Order: sequence, then structure tokens, then C-alpha cells
Amino acid sequence: MVDSLRQKGLRQKMVNALRQKGVADERVLSAMLRVPRHLFLDSAFDKLAYTDEAVPIGAGQTLSHPSTVATQTQLLQPKVGEKILEIGTGSGYQAAVLCALGVELYSIERQQLLFEKTKQTLSSMGFRPSLIFGDGFEGLPKHAPFAKIIVTCGASETPVNLLKQLAVGGRMVIPMGSGNSLRMCTIDRLSETEFKQTKHGNCDFVPMIKGVKSS
Ligand code: SAH
Repeated sequence: MVDSLRQKGLRQKMVNALRQKGVADERVLSAMLRVPRHLFLDSAFDKLAYTDEAVPIGAGQTLSHPSTVATQTQLLQPKVGEKILEIGTGSGYQAAVLCALGVELYSIERQQLLFEKTKQTLSSMGFRPSLIFGDGFEGLPKHAPFAKIIVTCGASETPVNLLKQLAVGGRMVIPMGSGNSLRMCTIDRLSETEFKQTKHGNCDFVPMIKGVKSS
């Protein structure tokens, strides 16, 4: 688990580039400066760790571009101590960025292989989110309501159970659409019965799939 001076330097450059691309939330940038992205990837992808590219993480899944992680985290507006649910733990990188921001994180992954591997990666780095192997479409009713929900896979329909588990005044950030045409959306819960959906930019994610895949 080496985080060399060279890698720290590349990370600083990545963060500078994100700032130039318009990421304005300094708390998010500072968290991304502290989380060593290369340690969430196979060493074969070392050269890509600090470029603005999505990288394969096994089981046919990808870790999103750093600019996507930054944009999504910024839209989430996470506050210290807030209870947040992530759907799609994947490599654990987004989870680590949220932990670095001081939130109380729950994260669900449907692929057992990734779930097991990432549990080890995160704990060896000292991050302690609650990780759950399960179907994100169901959420985590036991621990609801959540102040925020972040979905890191593309949903072709609104996951209604997740809406129910969002606190009044809370926000969900979710890529929505079908196939290649996904838009980043925020859904704010205004009251028990009212939700406000806002569309942001186009984005690219692997699909949100129902059910679990045991290894
Ligand atoms: N946040 C991750 C992104 C990984 S890609 C990271 O930082 O690496 C999206 C992940 O969502 C994949 O691992 C995929 O298996 C998972 N996923 C897709 N549908 C899901 C569902 N219904 N419930 C939970 N996880 C899901």
C-alpha cells in the first residue's frame, strides 16, 4: 500500500485540473487530494489512476472518472456526521471520498466478488463505512431515513424504495435514463409527499441491475 511522492504529486495535479474544470467545492477537492485513488485500482492501471478516465475494476464494472466523482459528490452536499446511503460500492473509491468528508456512510453492492474485495481494501486503508451485500433497489429500510442518497450506477427507473428512505429535506443524486443517454439528476424531498427533480449534465455509468450476483 504505497503512496509515493510521485503519486501524491499526480493527485495534486488531478485536483488542480478538476478545479479548472469548474469543481468549486474545496471540501470535496481536499477529500480527493487525501484519498489515494491508485490504491483502489489494479496496479496494471497505475498510469490511469490520476487521469480523468473511468477505469475497469473487475466483474465488468468501472470506477467513474474523477470529474464524475467530484461532480456527484459536490451535488450531494455532504455534511459532517450526516447519514448517507451509497448504491454501488464498486471499488470503494467514492465511499472513501465520502468517509474522508466525515459522513456516516452505508454502502450497498450487488456483486459479491466486489463486495468482498472492497471490504478488505477499505478496512486496510482505515476507512470504516458499513458495507452491505444486497440489492440497492431495496435500500436499507432498517437504517432509514437517510439525509442523502448517492446512486453510482445508471437507473432506468426511479427506485421508489429509495425515495421512501430519503429524509424530508434530504437529497438523492442519481444518474437516470437508458443506455447511453444518462443525465445526472438530483431529487430533493420537500415534504412527505413532494419531490423536486432537477436534471444536470450528461454522464456515463454502468447500469443499475436488480437482484444480487453471488460468487
Ligand atoms: N461507486 C463505485 C462505482 C462502481 S460502478 C466506485 O467508486 O468504484 C457501479 C457499481 O454499482 C458496480 O459495482 C455495480 O455492481 C453496482 N450495482 C449495480 N446495480 C446495483 C444494485 N441494484 N445494487 C447495488 N449495487 C449495484
